[in-house]
Amino acid sequence: MSILSKIREQRSKDVVELLEFSYGNRSWKPRLAPLDELIFTVLSQNTSDLNTYRSYERLTTKYRSWDQVMNASVEEIEIAIRIGGLSKVKAPRIKNILIEIFSRNGELSIDLINKMDVGESIEWLTSIPGVGRKTASCVLLFSFGLAAFPVDTHVLRVSKRLSLIDENISADKAHNLLERLISPEKYYQTHMDMIEHGRTVCIASKPNCKECVLNTICPSASL
Ligand code: SF4
Repeated sequence: MSILSKIREQRSKDVVELLEFSYGNRSWKPRLAPLDELIFTVLSQNTSDLNTYRSYERLTTKYRSWDQVMNASVEEIEIAIRIGGLSKVKAPRIKNILIEIFSRNGELSIDLINKMDVGESIEWLTSIPGVGRKTASCVLLFSFGLAAFPVDTHVLRVSKRLSLIDENISADKAHNLLERLISPEKYYQTHMDMIEHGRTVCIASKPNCKECVLNTICPSASL
């Protein structure tokens, strides 16, 4: 193992501990049913939490089942989710994801993931057009409680500033690298902690390093 790898391994352990100490212990609880989580995560792409909830609420109020969404026109879906932004991209994506799942399984369910290991589940989900690694990882972590570590914009930024991964690593590649650095039993805790930290302290425009619990171990700390 290289010296840099050893440093990153130790630093990641410290990050996990210090963030948990700072934000408190979080116990996992399922967020949404699997297919609901998948569509919710698609709606959350490049959108604020508030607009994600609004568009999800409007979609699930207008249509009482995913079957109805699958059979609706793209234009109708687009109108329902317009409030969330990027609706012209997300409406056909959602419809096509539902059609793909139905054509594979003969039903609108992704519960077959219960019979797969994490690697198989990631492969199965990401082979659906429109489902990327982050979306697949969110479904596995939040809905199934499986050992997947989603890397969103906050997790990616905080990890790079802490030099847990190289600056030029893409979000897709960061998934495997961070999953190797962090213990699987800490994926949920650390994912949630890094998001909170990225929103409140290590913010994109101006990190508040003076108030940061990680400032003694962060190579990017500006004190
Ligand atoms: S010390 Fe600064 S750059 Fe490093 S994690 Fe904390 S807020 Fe972010």
